[in-house]
Amino acid sequence: HQLYKLKHIIQFADQKQEFNKRPSKIGRRSLSRSISQSSTDSYSSAASYTDSSDDETSPRDKQQKNSKGNGDFCIKNIKQADFGRREIEIAEQEMPALMALRKRAQGEKPLAGAKVVGCTHITAQTAVLMETLSALGAQCRWAACNIYSTQNEVAAALAEGGFSVFAWKGESEDDFWWCIDRCVNVEGWQPNMILDDGGDLTHWIYKKYPNMFKKIKGIVEESVTGVHRLYQLSKAGKLCVPAMNVNDSVTKQKFDNLYCCRESILDGLKRTTDVMFGGKQVVVCGYGEVGKGCCAALKAMGSIVYVTEIDPICALQACMDGFRLVKLSEVIRQVDIVITCTGNKNVVVRDHLDRMKNSCIVCNMGHSNTEIDVASLRTPELTWERVRSQVDHVIWPDGKRVVLLAEGRLLNLSCSTVPTFVLSITATTQALALIELYNAPEGRYKQDVYLLPKKMDEYVASLHLLTFDAHLTELTDEQAKYLGLNKNGPFKPNYYRYSLKSALRFSLPRFYC
Ligand code: NAD
Repeated sequence: HQLYKLKHIIQFADQKQEFNKRPSKIGRRSLSRSISQSSTDSYSSAASYTDSSDDETSPRDKQQKNSKGNGDFCIKNIKQADFGRREIEIAEQEMPALMALRKRAQGEKPLAGAKVVGCTHITAQTAVLMETLSALGAQCRWAACNIYSTQNEVAAALAEGGFSVFAWKGESEDDFWWCIDRCVNVEGWQPNMILDDGGDLTHWIYKKYPNMFKKIKGIVEESVTGVHRLYQLSKAGKLCVPAMNVNDSVTKQKFDNLYCCRESILDGLKRTTDVMFGGKQVVVCGYGEVGKGCCAALKAMGSIVYVTEIDPICALQACMDGFRLVKLSEVIRQVDIVITCTGNKNVVVRDHLDRMKNSCIVCNMGHSNTEIDVASLRTPELTWERVRSQVDHVIWPDGKRVVLLAEGRLLNLSCSTVPTFVLSITATTQALALIELYNAPEGRYKQDVYLLPKKMDEYVASLHLLTFDAHLTELTDEQAKYLGLNKNGPFKPNYYRYSLKSALRFSLPRFYC
C-alpha cells in the first residue's frame, strides 16, 4: 500500500513537474554508418536454446504460422515456442515491477489504443516487457536492434502468443532493415508510439515514412547512441514528436553502471579464465560508478585491490573505501588482473602491456574498445593465440603471455549475461515512459527530448522494493513540512544524482582548475 497506484502514473504529469531537459551526451559512436553500430555490438543474451534440427534456410524464405493460423511474423522456428515460454517464465521471476504493473492493469488499460512499434534486443526480458505492454492495452510489432542478440526460442514464443515479431539470431544487414521495415510498413496498421534502442527504427521511419510522425505521439529511447541522435535531431529543429530519454533516468544509470558491473565483473572473468579471485592483486582504473562496482565485488572475493584515478574526489572516495590509490605504472609489474573503467582512451598502453607479468589478465569494463590500446599489440613480434571464445593470449618473444579478454571490448556485455533484475529496471522505465507520453495531454511535451519525471523514477524503484519485502518509511506531515516535500514525492531534487565531483567541476574558480 506504500506504492503509488497505477492511476497515479498518469496523474504524475498533472502535478506540474519541472521536466528537466538534459543537454546531449557526447556521442561516442559514429552515427554515419550503413548499419547500426549498436546492431552489431557484441551482446550475450541469456541461455539460448539451440535445436539441432534448425536448418540454414533464411527465415525470410519460410512460411510459418502459429497454432492459431496467424503468420504475421518472421522468426527462425515457431516450433521452439515452448522452450521460449520457459525462458520468459524464468525472466518473470526477476521482473517484479512489470508483473506488478500487469496486476494493476487488470482494471485500467493505460495503453488502450496504443500501437507500439519496438526495436530492442529480443530476449526473455523484452518478452516480459512486450507482454506487459499488451496487458496494459497496447498492440505491439517488434524487430531486433542487434543482429546477434535475439533468443530465437523467445521470438518463437512471442509469435506463438500472437505478437508480430520480425527477428532472428544472426541476421544479415539486409535482414536487419527488412525486419524493421516489416514492422512499420503494414496494411491497416500504423504505429502511434516508438520504443527504440539505438535509434535505428526512429531513423528508418524518418527516412522512409516521415508522414507516420503525424500519428506518432512519442518516442521512448533506451541507448546512449539513440539519445544522442535524438538530441541532434532536436538541435537541428527536426525532431517532430516528443521523446523520452530513459537512458539517463537515475534508476537505470545506477543499476547499469554500479550494480550490474558489481555482479558481472566476476561473472565475465570467471567464465573466460576460471581465475580464483582470493589473494589476487587487481588494479581497477577509474573509481566512478563502474569502478566502484568492480572494486566492491573483487574486495568481497578477497582480492587485493588497487585503484587509479585522475579525479581527487573519486580518489579520496577510493581511499576512504579502503583501496590503495596508485599510478598504474607503480603496480603494473605485480598485478594479476588489470580492469579499465574510465570512459577514457589509452588508459592501458603498450608500455604497460610490455611490463605486465606472465599470465596477467587485461580487460575493459568501460568505454567500448578505446581504453586498452589493443592496436599496439598487433605487431609482428607478438603472437596472438585464440584460446577460447573471447580470450586471446598475446605472446611476447620471451614466452610471456598476457591474457586479453574480448579484444578490449566491454567484458560483461561480451562474456557474461546481464542480470534480469537490471533489465527489469530498464523495462519498467520504458513501460512508464510509454504510458506517460501516450497519456500526456496536448502541449505537456513539446518536440524535444525529456528525462523521465523524477517521481516516475522513484516509482520504478518502489515497484522493485516489492522483491525484498522492504518497508519504506513514510514522512510525517511535520517532517514533510520541515523538508519542504510532498509526502508522495519526489523526494530529491532533479540535480541530486549529479555527483559532487561534477558539481564542483563547473563551479570552482579558475584558480583551482
Ligand atoms: P564515471 O565518470 O562515473 O567514472 C569514470 C571515472 O574514471 C571517473 O571518476 C574519472 O575521473 C576516471 N578516469 C578518467 N580517466 C582516467 C584515467 N586515465 N585514469 C584513471 N581514472 C580515470 O563513469 P562510469 O559511470 O563509471 O562509467 C565508466 C565507463 O563505463 C563509461 O564509458 C560507461 O559508458 C561505461 N559503462 C559500462 C557498463 C558495463 O556494463 N560495462 C555499464 C555502464 C557504463
